[in-house]
Order: sequence, then structure tokens, then C-alpha cells
Amino acid sequence: MRAQHFIGNQWVAPANDETIAVVNPSTGLEFARIARGNAADIDAAVNAARKAFDTVWRRIGPVERGRILSRLGQLILENHESLTRIESQDTGKPLKQAAADITVCARYMEFYAGACDKLHGQTIPFLQGHTVLAVREPHGVTGHIIPWNYPAAMFGRSVAASLAAGNACVVKPAEDACLSYLKLAELAAEAGLPAGVLNIVTGYGREAGAALAEHPGIAHISFTGSPATGTAVAQAAARHHCPVTLELGGKSPQIVFDDVDLDAALPVIRNAIVQNSGQTCSAGSRLLVHSSRYEEVIERLARSFEAVTAGPADGDYDCGPLINATQLDRVKTFLARADADNIGFAAMGKLAPDAAQGGYFQPPVLLRDVPHKHTLAQDEVFGPVLVAMPFADEAEAVHLANDTAFGLVAGIWTRDGGRQMRLAHAFHGGQVFVNCYGAGGGIELPFGGVKQSGYGREKGLEGLLSFTTLKTITLNHG
Ligand code: NAD
Repeated sequence: MRAQHFIGNQWVAPANDETIAVVNPSTGLEFARIARGNAADIDAAVNAARKAFDTVWRRIGPVERGRILSRLGQLILENHESLTRIESQDTGKPLKQAAADITVCARYMEFYAGACDKLHGQTIPFLQGHTVLAVREPHGVTGHIIPWNYPAAMFGRSVAASLAAGNACVVKPAEDACLSYLKLAELAAEAGLPAGVLNIVTGYGREAGAALAEHPGIAHISFTGSPATGTAVAQAAARHHCPVTLELGGKSPQIVFDDVDLDAALPVIRNAIVQNSGQTCSAGSRLLVHSSRYEEVIERLARSFEAVTAGPADGDYDCGPLINATQLDRVKTFLARADADNIGFAAMGKLAPDAAQGGYFQPPVLLRDVPHKHTLAQDEVFGPVLVAMPFADEAEAVHLANDTAFGLVAGIWTRDGGRQMRLAHAFHGGQVFVNCYGAGGGIELPFGGVKQSGYGREKGLEGLLSFTTLKTITLNHG
């Protein structure tokens, strides 16, 4: 891997010649270096994107755009194994999770490739002798600020949708995990994407990321990450009146009623917090259980948590390491607080025998009877920590589900059809799963939040629309 940016389909040395160490989360050891981008690199990338948009990309029709994305999807599948290894080593994801993410990335290409020529506008009835068209147009150059938790999947969700809508892109992946982007950019060029349509600038958020958010040449920003950084990005974008999509995480409830099919529900509930070591914005991190089944659920789930092993990514355990030392400290601090406040530890997973001393491992933890207003029940841990609490009736379940600062996803587990719909409508958030749960999954399903979970929608056809702007054309033909 080169410690260089990818601008105009070429490898470009960083303006300041500085690099950043890339650390393997499974060992804590450096294994590569990336370029440390700054405002000058971002400027070069935005200029390359603008030129490509004006001179080449906007003249290429939707059918050809779709073919290029389709070829890219095919190349991703052909390079599945190497991309999986890169993603796994870079993020600490167990190989099977990394492989699933690469497949998801390819699926996004297929989905959005097929959508390029289906972005219809509207005709609007107006005055006699007039015809009015509302047409979808690309923004121009879009900025993409990407987190470290699902890099390859996020490439599909954010970048593929924007390219499909006809934009040129400047991408600032996370400093902790961006190696798959460098490979994907090379594959995009091989697939026939014209020079400058896709540009990757690596580096720190406070440098390259901030420069991207405030660059006046950027016409739309897609941001996924923490609420604090999302606020900073939105403020910087507001200074040049640039629209932003913010996806900022959650504290998503799994709501289990007395008529639940526990055999079906428990493996899904466990996976929704163990997957990606809980570092998933849509992780099911709160477990609300009807009091009549509470002890049974805790007991069965505890056994299943104890069977989970956290270990190195290449050992392909169920739970990999956390991304970095800061994230591990953050999770340990939450757990120390739970301990200090006498919250019950119902279960903890095991550490693999081959887990290196320097790796950032935290076996999954199940906490019980967590007071609803406690920080463990209100704040996003972003680690494999599930907090459980009982509820007495449907009204209390709705209150607990909604009473946090977040509103992203809810899982509802009941066989009662009326209750399914009442709860689905009563949840204040962006996505509801009934008797299933899709942490990170479902490329076809519009996704996003309310409140501190952010605003705007990505994924599905709705996501494509957010990478367009609507133009109204009124013709007076008499
Ligand atoms: P972050 O929000 O700081 O980073 C996300 C992206 O934003 C990265 O590419 C980063 O380089 C960039 N960035 C950082 N500061 C920036 C700035 N001032 N201007 C522009 N871009 C900037 O997240 P983090 O520090 O890596 O993780 C902290 C917490 O964020 C985690 O503990 C977790 O709670 C949350 N998080 C959420 C998601 C999610 O999917 N919603 C993903 C990652 C992290």
C-alpha cells in the first residue's frame, strides 16, 4: 500500500510529505503508513473533481455510468479475497465479517448501477399553455467523510450512490481504517471511471476532514461519525451553504414482549451487539424485556454471551478487537462506571488464547437492571456492551424506547400484529425491524435517524435522491 493520495486517477504524494502510522488493532503494531493530507491536498482533489465533472462526467449518460459501476462491482467480487484481508487487518474485523462487508460493497455497486437510468423526474400540472418539468440533477462535487467502522460498506452506501447520481467525489476516509479505499479507487479506475471523478485524500479529521467540510467547491457532504464531529462538519458546511447528510449513531432498543419466540430472537439480539464488536451505529445496544420473561431472557442470553470469544481478526472469532486504544479506553471507562455504580454484570465473553497483549480486545458484556437514566443506558458506548432492563407494559416500553437523545433503529419482538404496528409507529427513529434486526445490513432500505442520530437518508433509492438536487423548468408554449 502506498502512503499517497489518489487524485485524478494517479498516486499523488502528500503536499507536506508527512505520513501517519496504520496500526493493526489485533496486535497494536504498525503495519503500514498512509499520507497525511492537508488543505492543499483537499484543494487539489476538489479541483480535479470539478474539472472532471465539468468536462467529462456530466456528459457521460446514465447508461454508461451504470456500466462503469457495474464493472466496478464485478472487479470488487473478483478481488474479494484481497479486499477482505485488507479490510480485516485494517479494522480488526473477523475475516467472515470483513468478507460480508466486501460483498455488501459489491451489492451497492450492483444496486446503484441499475438505478442510474431510473432517476426519473416529474411533470407538474400548471397554467394553461405551460409544461413544467422537475428534473433531478447531480450536485456537482460531493464530499464524503467516512468513519472507521464499516469502510468498504460505507464506500458503497455513500460514494457509489453519489457517482450513480452523476456527481464527482472527494473522499476523506477515517485515519484509522482507509486502506480498502486505496484499493477500491484503483479498481474504479480499472473499471473505466474517468480521471478526477473519484479522489481519495487520507489524513486526520481535524486537518483533511475539516478542509473538506469548509471547501467552497463542495456542493454536498455525506458525513457518518460522532455527534460532536457531525456538528462541526455541519457548521463548517453552513458557512458555504452546503447541504449535509449526518449519520451519527444511536442507542437502539431491542424490545422483547412476553409472546416472543426466544429461539428465534436471542441469536439475533446477541449478534446485533457482538457484530463488529458493537462498533455499529445501528447496534442493538439496549435490551428492554417484559418483566414476565426478563429472568429467562437474561439467563439464556448470559449463557450465549459467555460462549463468545474475542480474538484476533485472522483467527475469525465472533468478536474482533476494538479499532484503537482510545476506543478500548472509552469502553473500559464505561464498564468501570457500571462497576462503581453496582450495576450487575450478568455475563462476559472469553478472551482467545492467541489474543496478543497489545491488541484492543474487549469480550462482550451483558449488564442487567441498568437504571434507565444511567449513562450506560443513555450514551453510545460503541463497544460490545448490552444493557438490559425490564418493562411492565406496552406504554412503558414505548417510553423507554424513545427516552434517549438518539433515534436510529428499533427491534420489536412480538407475535401480536396490532402491537407490532403500534410500536413501529410509536418509535421515534429512522428504521424499525419486527421479529428481525439488521445492524448494518439491507442496502435497499433507506437508513438514517432523528434527534442526535442525525438527519437525511442514505441507502436504497431514497439515498440516491439525496445526492441530487431538483430543478424546476417551466415552459410557456402558448
Ligand atoms: P469522528 O466522528 O471524529 O470521525 C469520523 C470521521 O470524521 C473520520 O473520517 C474523521 O477523520 C473525521 N473527522 C474528525 N474530526 C473532523 C473535523 N473536525 N472535521 C471534519 N472531519 C472530521 O469519530 P471517531 O473520533 O473516530 O470516534 C469517536 C466516536 O464516534 C465513537 O466512539 C463512536 O461513538 C462514534 N462513531 C460513530 C460512528 C457511526 O457509524 N455513527 C462511526 C464511528 C464513530
